[in-house]
Formats: sequence, C-alpha cells, structure tokens
Amino acid sequence: MTLTPVMEEDHLKQIYVLSRSTGCVRVSDVAAALSVHLSTVSKMALKLRECGYVIYEKYGQIASTYAGLRMGKQLLGKHRTLVSLLRHAGVPEAQACKEAERLEHYISWESASRLEALLGMLEENAAQDAPRKQENGYAGKLDRAR
Ligand code: CA
Repeated sequence: MTLTPVMEEDHLKQIYVLSRSTGCVRVSDVAAALSVHLSTVSKMALKLRECGYVIYEKYGQIASTYAGLRMGKQLLGKHRTLVSLLRHAGVPEAQACKEAERLEHYISWESASRLEALLGMLEENAAQDAPRKQENGYAGKLDRAR
C-alpha cells in the first residue's frame, strides 16, 4: 500500500475530528470512520508521527500534537467551506459531502481562504434575504436565473 498525500490529509482530519473532545483516539475508531484496515491507520499514524503531527506508539492510541491540531482544524475548515458552498449552489447534502471530500485535496490554502470569504458574503446575503426567499439558499435564485 502506498501512502498518498490525499490519505495523509484524510487521516489527519479524521484523527482531529475523533480526538477533539478526549485528546486521543483508538486506531480502530479511525479505521471504522474511514472504512479502512487497522494496518492502514497504523501505517499512516507512523507516517504522521514522522511529520510531527501525532504522538503514536504501535498498538497504542493516537494523539495530535499542536501542529497536528492546527493542521486538522484547517483541513476540517476547508472541507466545511466546500460543503457549504456546494450546498448553496443547490447540490444535495450527500453529494456535496462526497465531492468536498475529493475537492479538498486539490484546492490551495489561499484559494480555500478566498472561498471561505465568499461563503461569508453568501451567508450574509442569504440572512438578509431570508424573509423574502424560499427554500434551498441560493439554489432557488440559480434556478430562476436559468
Ligand atoms: Ca478527503
């Protein structure tokens, strides 16, 4: 199995999500969340440890370092921004999540931060429009514009 940057990001993001409240997470929980083998999580944890993102001993739990927490938070933020933008565009929730899961690996931090600002403007406008508009955020407007 080859470890890829895409997998690294997904594992780090998942470790961040699962360990946020308790500070650490079991390999089996990460494996279940990502639908991968225990050995895949274990190998990835060793790789992330090399990069300074986690503390991990074989057969032990995984804990994020400060750098890991920061990176995990940024990765989750990028993912959420993409999901929200797709939802505003009228993409159904499940599809938005699935596509954001792929897109997140190909968008630079700079573009992600610009998209986040754009999302902020969209949400501000949506809040102002709320009394006038109907369902689905901007989907209704897009449909009318077609
Ligand atoms: Ca992903």
